[in-house]
Amino acid sequence: MSLRDRLVGRIAAHGPLTVADYMDACLHDPRDGYYATRPALGEGGDFLTAPHTSQMFGELIGLWAAETWTRMGGPPRFALVELGPGDGTLMSDILRAGRAAPGFNEAAQVWLVETSDPLRALQAARLGDRPRWADELGEVPRDAPVILAANEFLDCLPIRQAVSTPEGWRERRVGVDENGALRFEVGPPLPPLLGRVGPEGRGGAVWNDGRIGGHPGAPHPDGFAVCPSPGGEGGVVEFSPGLEAFGREVAGLLEEATGAALFIDYGRSAAGYGDTLQALRGHAKEGPLENPGSADLTAWVDFPAFLDAAAAPDSPILSQGVFLRRLGIEMRAAALAAAHPEQAGKIMRQLERLIGVDQMGELFKVVALGSPGVPLAGFEAA
Ligand code: SAH
Repeated sequence: MSLRDRLVGRIAAHGPLTVADYMDACLHDPRDGYYATRPALGEGGDFLTAPHTSQMFGELIGLWAAETWTRMGGPPRFALVELGPGDGTLMSDILRAGRAAPGFNEAAQVWLVETSDPLRALQAARLGDRPRWADELGEVPRDAPVILAANEFLDCLPIRQAVSTPEGWRERRVGVDENGALRFEVGPPLPPLLGRVGPEGRGGAVWNDGRIGGHPGAPHPDGFAVCPSPGGEGGVVEFSPGLEAFGREVAGLLEEATGAALFIDYGRSAAGYGDTLQALRGHAKEGPLENPGSADLTAWVDFPAFLDAAAAPDSPILSQGVFLRRLGIEMRAAALAAAHPEQAGKIMRQLERLIGVDQMGELFKVVALGSPGVPLAGFEAA
């Protein structure tokens, strides 16, 4: 039975699904989930990521990791962790660039946090038997410092959505229409605090009566402008308990083990409205309900909410373009082009793809978390 048919059966038996439960089933269902069965990265697949765009991306992340290790005093043993390592390209570029710091590679115990069996096989083919694999970050030992990197991992964490109705905010759910097709439906009212979305700066919470302002955990604010229907009736606000729980987990890991973590993804650097759930198949966007399990399903990362949860609300949110330029990507591109003049045009196009404001440079953001006393390269006050 197809995943769609099983989901229709599940909805008939237990009622509509939250968007988070739907995402989780589409990505991770053990039999038919996208990552469990047919993750297709790269040119011939469904989507192309920065490590596939150019080796420069992973090399600079590798230099960031090596610099972080040096700043930590060069511990003789540490866990070099990647979350959601795809086909292993990023980790292999990191390890190659890491040779620039003598001792870094020898000290690194490589951990790959990966749920997908087919991707684990690709990672092993590229990286050999050096890495250890874990299903979850919690399995990485905490008895040594940690340096962690993740590209396009946070966008896979399931989000929930709220939709604005004349009666207030309701959960947006996935149900079934009279013809047996999946559709979005308006679900039950949501608890008073929906999430950290609002027009003012990075903060702002949306309350079930449409008020915007204040902070999560604070009492219901009075005196904020009433905005019953941001974006009009049907306006969507997203929130992600999973992302926030993960932020708390990373912060806990860094507190116990010490170290630093780098996250690169597309998403928001300020609060905002809108439905960002997106399905990609064969490099083309399609409706998120069209092909459950055979399209990649992601959502924009709410970076302010992530940083708040990680107890680092004031950490900078850099654009990928700014971050990579601070690490010296333009010099790296010039050096590569000088060494391979016949490929100079291609290298410059790849550079533009990674840092151009109308390409990946602005949409993709970079945040870093570190334990006290570990200054994070690229994040020094400008
Ligand atoms: N970082 C790679 C791949 C990004 S695709 C790149 O930049 O090319 C997302 C990756 O995260 C895949 O490897 C997928 O299997 C993994 N993944 C998704 N959800 C996960 C979860 N909950 N736990 C661990 N890995 C997950």
